[in-house]
Amino acid sequence: MDAAVIFIKKCYTICSMFISDEEFQVLIGQVMDELPSKYMTRLNNVAITYADQPTDIQREKLRLRGNQTLFGLYEGIPLTARGAGYTLVLPDKITLFKLPLLAASADHDALRKQVKHTLWHEIAHHFGLDHDRIHELERGAG
Ligand SMILES: [Zn+2]
Repeated sequence: MDAAVIFIKKCYTICSMFISDEEFQVLIGQVMDELPSKYMTRLNNVAITYADQPTDIQREKLRLRGNQTLFGLYEGIPLTARGAGYTLVLPDKITLFKLPLLAASADHDALRKQVKHTLWHEIAHHFGLDHDRIHELERGAG
């Protein structure tokens, strides 16, 4: 049994709810509509997707240990780092990790908030913000 299977089994016992992939996709769409359009319209060459949880390769890159996991991940070249050489480049990728998000949410409302918070955090990385600046903004936004 690999790590992914173990986590899924664990999630069925520790998650207080479960939603289908279709419902999760709908939720992501709703959350995207709620984020400020002045930022959403400036997204450039970025794919927003989801997965059950980080892959082994992603875990390794981020040096996640044991039970550590992630709600979301931004991979790519931030807008602020793109120069004249930025052509024919694969899109940035933002991945939301469904099972960790579910495991951390008591109900649908909490899940929605956590997805929104996570997506916003990863979008901030796309705009080239570092963690200090993101946390500053998050505090400001309450
Ligand atoms: Zn981050």
